[in-house]
Amino acid sequence: MTDISYHNHSRFSDGADTINDMVQAAKAAGLAEFGLSDHWVVTPFCDPEVKTWSMAHDQLDNYIAGVLQAKQDYSDDSFQLRLGLEVDFFPENAAAVVAALGDRPFDYLIGSVHFVERFSVDISADTWAPFSQEQVDAIWRQYWQRIRELAKSGLYDIVGHLDLPKKFAFYPAVDLRAEEDAALAAIRDANMVIEINSAGLDKPCAEPYPSLSLLQRACALGIPVMVSADSHRCPNVMRNFPTAYDLMARAGYDPDTRWRFNRRQRQASPNV
Ligand SMILES: [Zn+2]
Ligand SMILES: [Zn+2]
Repeated sequence: MTDISYHNHSRFSDGADTINDMVQAAKAAGLAEFGLSDHWVVTPFCDPEVKTWSMAHDQLDNYIAGVLQAKQDYSDDSFQLRLGLEVDFFPENAAAVVAALGDRPFDYLIGSVHFVERFSVDISADTWAPFSQEQVDAIWRQYWQRIRELAKSGLYDIVGHLDLPKKFAFYPAVDLRAEEDAALAAIRDANMVIEINSAGLDKPCAEPYPSLSLLQRACALGIPVMVSADSHRCPNVMRNFPTAYDLMARAGYDPDTRWRFNRRQRQASPNV
């Protein structure tokens, strides 16, 4: 079984452990391929809280140097390290933010929506609690619109934790299937991969991102998927993988299919 996990964080953003410690843990866990994807968040508004979980903007090249050094130190015939970045999507500045990354040698960019307008959907349940059901519905509707715009931008390779607003189990009461399907169609048209993010199993929503229903529709559209742990500490580098692969199979995918990225080129790889 070849296991790959591309969505992981180090101390360069909100992870608890160093790049080297995370890579060593990934190798020890038996992963064949591991990628770091620390947060890169450039808000088009002032949000002091972001500093607590995003990479400092003057640290990007140190982060890249750290991953590339670890690649030299730890890659071998049975283990490959990849350089990724989890980039927040804001319609106001997305193109400029990605353009400013220049020709840095990323293997992949994960595009994520954590914010709807100025509201961060995944900080805590307390921030959701005061909302009326109508407000919850509105956040979800706007979220799907943002995912659609993210895909249409063509700036990223992988969609991060699709359906993240469910994290604290605040769900829409209205039928948003049309909005979801429009977002999925845009993802397919952009030739992106959706991650099955196993971190959701450890949150109040108690299931991976995205849901089985979304994955079934993604499968019907031929959208590739890949399992990732979204780990922020060493013990979590393969968290909940059996459950995530089980969900992948239940959605109609061949759970042995793997995708890899090298310098932003995607390749299918036979599982070995
Ligand atoms: Zn994220
Ligand atoms: Zn993440």
